[in-house]
Amino acid sequence: MDRGFLAWPFFEPRHRELADELGQWCADNLADRYADDLDSECRALVRELGAAGFLKLCVADGDRRPDVRSLAIARETLAYHSGLADFAFAMQGLGSGAISLFGTVEQKRAWLPKVASGQAIAAFAMTEPECGSDAANIATSAMRDGNEWVLVGEKTYISNGGIADFYLTFARTGEGEGARGLSAFIVPADAENLAVAERIEVIAPHPLARLAYGNVRIPADAIVGEPGEGFRIGMETLTLFRVTVGAAALGFARRALDEALSYASKRRLGSGTLADNAVTQEKLADMALAIDASALLVYRAAWQQDVGGTDNRRAAAMAKLHATDSAQSVIDAAVQMHGGAGVTRGVKVEELYRDIRALRIYEGASEVQRQIIARDLLKEARA
Ligand SMILES: Cc1cc2nc3c(=O)[nH]c(=O)nc-3n(C[C@H](O)[C@H](O)[C@H](O)COP(=O)(O)OP(=O)(O)OC[C@H]3O[C@@H](n4cnc5c(N)ncnc54)[C@H](O)[C@@H]3O)c2cc1C
Repeated sequence: MDRGFLAWPFFEPRHRELADELGQWCADNLADRYADDLDSECRALVRELGAAGFLKLCVADGDRRPDVRSLAIARETLAYHSGLADFAFAMQGLGSGAISLFGTVEQKRAWLPKVASGQAIAAFAMTEPECGSDAANIATSAMRDGNEWVLVGEKTYISNGGIADFYLTFARTGEGEGARGLSAFIVPADAENLAVAERIEVIAPHPLARLAYGNVRIPADAIVGEPGEGFRIGMETLTLFRVTVGAAALGFARRALDEALSYASKRRLGSGTLADNAVTQEKLADMALAIDASALLVYRAAWQQDVGGTDNRRAAAMAKLHATDSAQSVIDAAVQMHGGAGVTRGVKVEELYRDIRALRIYEGASEVQRQIIARDLLKEARA
């Protein structure tokens, strides 16, 4: 894996140390790992990442927000080795992000140490059957009843659905129209009347479910932030983690390039190898170029978020958009270079081909990222 990027000025010594330490952990713990049972494997990965101390990166340390450069390095490194390990790590951050950013001292104390140690599995429940990209239209409702909130509705495509210990749930509380009438809640998985209605299978398997909230009662203090602040809380959480989706894509793409380099160097073609062929070399060059451009965008956005002190929405959207779209092309080129082996189950590039696809859809589809970039440009131009 090309590690030259760690010398870039975006990083501090602690980031290079993290890359070394986690890289070694992955080599020791993730190689040749085979999972029969997805749920148990995910639980095991969360526990092991927690025990090794890496999940601390996913949560706030007191008032200090998670360091986005560390999250990005961690996701890139994990994704290089295993899509499922990256998933287990990432969801601890996304699922608890609202608590890290907006939770009370009590909420942080109750949940973040458990998330960081791997004792509690986190989930982020925003999407509904009738509302995905357009989160302002959430229909799940939360009504105040004395000292409780009562939630009614349905969420779908919820990662960690079925194995999570709590679902950070967005629901309509009606302070205003659309985005102005939403709130965020911590809903424990064992709350009465909360059901896993359906497990969903996707091309890169991980725990995913549709949830039914049928009069789920939670205490009044389970709300995160103020009533009506849910949309802002959701969007700020997504903005924090959006860059790291790009970082995961980068890890997948780097692995695809390494697999392609290794395969092309060994595979015989005529009197030489595939790597001796000019067309192959052109492809390899394009793959490396796409990867470096993604890395620059991802770590620029991560640095900007940590220390830049500027509104980071445009940079985060550019990083996610470019890194995920170009990783798809890089991986596709690696599959093509492998010929029949590239589409054979058990071959790494075939796994990567499935792993990358959903990243261009979740946490804001590519079209939504373009919209964020364009709106930001126009706002600046019209100011
Ligand atoms: C593997 C996986 C894991 C997920 N995990 C979670 C999770 O943990 N929690 C959670 O809440 N959700 C999760 N989701 C849901 C995900 O966030 C939504 O799928 C996503 O927001 C898109 O919503 P949708 O599927 O309803 O598609 P729609 O909103 O119906 O959009 C369909 C397509 O329309 C296009 N489109 C959308 N908006 C625009 C636009 N403004 N302009 C032009 N074209 C547009 C895009 O191509 C998009 O893919 C997950 C999804 C997947 C696939």
